[in-house]
Amino acid sequence: MLLITCPHCGERNESEFIHGGPARMRRPLDPSALSDEAWVDYLTVPSNPLGAVDEKWWHARGCGAWTVLRRDTMTHQFLPRSDDGR
Ligand SMILES: [Zn+2]
Repeated sequence: MLLITCPHCGERNESEFIHGGPARMRRPLDPSALSDEAWVDYLTVPSNPLGAVDEKWWHARGCGAWTVLRRDTMTHQFLPRSDDGR
């Protein structure tokens, strides 16, 4: 069982959360300058790096808040983020 710490509710079971993907997926500045293939890749191919990744998590079966957490995709362990003071 994976435990996720919601900033409002504390430590909760992962079954209460929905993964929202990478937290910092930037929209291209000028989408019209991209090839059709690059635009489709941006829209449909999520990044899947190995290691520490900032991800959006929605506490859907709890308080309903979105939060950004850093998770090691190799171990599934949640890690402290440098910008959240933990
Ligand atoms: Zn919550």
